[in-house]
Amino acid sequence: VLSPTLTNLIEGGSDGWEVFMRARKMIANGTPVTELTIGEHDIRTDPSILAAMDVSARGGHTGYATVPGIAELRAEVAARVQTRTGVPTEPENVMITPGGQSALFASHLAACPFGQKALYLDPYYATYPGTLRGVGAVAVPIQTRAEDGFQPDAREIDAHADGAASLLINSPNNPTGVIYTRETLEGIADVCKRHDLWLISDEVYDTQVWEGAHLSPRALPDMAERTLVIGSMSKSHAMTGSRIGWIVGPKDAIAHIANLATHTTYGVAGFVQDAALFALREGPEFEAKIAAPFERRRALTVDILKGQNHVKLIPADGAMYVMLNIRATGLSGEDFANQLLDTHHIAVMPGESFGKAAAGHIRVAMTIDDERYAEALRTLCEYVASLC
Ligand code: PLP
Repeated sequence: VLSPTLTNLIEGGSDGWEVFMRARKMIANGTPVTELTIGEHDIRTDPSILAAMDVSARGGHTGYATVPGIAELRAEVAARVQTRTGVPTEPENVMITPGGQSALFASHLAACPFGQKALYLDPYYATYPGTLRGVGAVAVPIQTRAEDGFQPDAREIDAHADGAASLLINSPNNPTGVIYTRETLEGIADVCKRHDLWLISDEVYDTQVWEGAHLSPRALPDMAERTLVIGSMSKSHAMTGSRIGWIVGPKDAIAHIANLATHTTYGVAGFVQDAALFALREGPEFEAKIAAPFERRRALTVDILKGQNHVKLIPADGAMYVMLNIRATGLSGEDFANQLLDTHHIAVMPGESFGKAAAGHIRVAMTIDDERYAEALRTLCEYVASLC
């Protein structure tokens, strides 16, 4: 008998991923599909990073690495965070993890006693509810609204905060591309302090910012002691497959979370950590180079959608996605995405895959070359117009 815990991680089965699965099947059967579904770069990890990995592995860094991460990488992440946020950060505030996903799981396991409420915002990154349930928390979604540009309302969070242990936020946001304003984050910080909540701040898109600036809530007054920041090199350095990320938080929390790694992952491969160290030392210019295609495609999106009456773009200030309101078609995001795939062989994610708040929307990942991306977007707009 297998425990149901793992099955229960996926809410309602895999419905939300139907379009994605069908697109994959069509591609496998030889039908060309324009794939705008998942958050995977259209470039691979830079050869210079691979070379650093190779030198490290051949140099013998293939044994067990220390669990909270190698000292040099923890120090590099700490320095990076301190430079960006102005918050004093030491290596002991940092734990290296196999990607952001496991950092999310570990952080919630540390922050949420079994059976307590863990709050998160809808629309959400697709794994969130399962991650929260996986640690034994009661996952409570809080709706945001398209009309508010999907900025969370602190009063709404406050209304759900009694008996909760944590709040999970994500800015720049997947799936909406929205960046939370200072006002939004200050409101959230106040709720966390008033209700004694841990704030788990998923900042894996922090290098992909097109308008305004990314503000880490850890930098707000009295928040460093109750915030766990999730970082990752998947998006910032096109290193999805290397599985490398981190948690930044109070030293006692980091030491506590390191206990989990000792009994689960046993750390991250030493040669991957060395490659990550090399990549981080390449500095912000390197990160800007990797982010540049998405900034270009976001500008293309704004341009193409300018004259469109039936498709509305949620102002997307960061990350590698745009969220489009297609309610004028009278279709759900799910029906629209299925029909778009069948009629035009273009695959996008239905808004419903990310919760209730983005119903009637679709998420478009800007993850193919500019020319094909622009062509797909124009086709999509023509299709919407033909339905209205
Ligand atoms: N958080 C968000 C919001 C994401 O979109 C993703 C991946 O798409 C992750 C976390 C997980 O990233 P990683 O590859 O670092 O596990």
